[in-house]
Amino acid sequence: MSIARVVNEWFVANRRDLPWRAPDFGAWGILVSEIMLQQTPVARVIPRLALWLERWPSPAALAASPPGEAVRAWERLGYPRRALRLHAAAVAITERHSGVVPSDVDQLLALPGIGDYTARAVAAFAFGLRHPVVDTNVRRVIARAIDGNAEAGPPSTRRDLEAMEALLPHSDEDARLFNAGMMELGAIVCTARAPRCDACPLADSCRWRADGYPPYEGPRAAVQAKFDGSDRQVRGLIMAELRGSDIPVSIAEIETVWPDAVQRDRALAGLLADGLAVAVPGGYELP
Ligand code: SF4
Repeated sequence: MSIARVVNEWFVANRRDLPWRAPDFGAWGILVSEIMLQQTPVARVIPRLALWLERWPSPAALAASPPGEAVRAWERLGYPRRALRLHAAAVAITERHSGVVPSDVDQLLALPGIGDYTARAVAAFAFGLRHPVVDTNVRRVIARAIDGNAEAGPPSTRRDLEAMEALLPHSDEDARLFNAGMMELGAIVCTARAPRCDACPLADSCRWRADGYPPYEGPRAAVQAKFDGSDRQVRGLIMAELRGSDIPVSIAEIETVWPDAVQRDRALAGLLADGLAVAVPGGYELP
């Protein structure tokens, strides 16, 4: 049996019931969920996504709000630049596509802040079109089951898409299931730290397992810096102050969030440069 058939049968029987998998979830909901899920765990995304879609059920609704409201509603999902990018995408969808999320990958890629992964995920999951969709989980399953490597190594869009395309079934529906199934397999069975091979549908054909789980010796993607004490932590603290206030936050208030003035100034300058904060009389606020 092909890998795709094995994964698809396993997925149909074992998939988690997640909101964005409901048949009527809609392209806008899927686009928002994909952006939220990029760097935030599922359990934290689900409640925030529901509130977001209740408030902004369409791209036009979000586009009509100021970008600062999107940043405020992002709350503590992390990497708040995603809120600004989502707002910019909503404006572009409203202006260029009459408020309708496009199904074409090139049109999706032309939207601000929509990258290779998100464009293909929306085309495949919202519109059922046959495209390879590759996230970290898919890369890891392919690296192990097909290539016999413990890790996937640094990402390469072209190579990763080709590897998934080579496994992708021909029909739109089977391809959509396979994309989702490979992601699910990497998320809940073939996890980075503790793969559960005894529960894996690919256990009999997995090359890494057959080779006796050799350790990874290839190149690695850059490791993300530790969060504690990082500029990212200081940015998060300043953003929490801005989100929590309806009036400008003074520089004296910002000085209370972090003792190191050099790092604090650098974090604030970064937020201003990214458009996540703006200087106004009396201090700083969301855009
Ligand atoms: S057999 Fe183990 S290592 Fe191979 S794909 Fe399955 S979970 Fe991953």
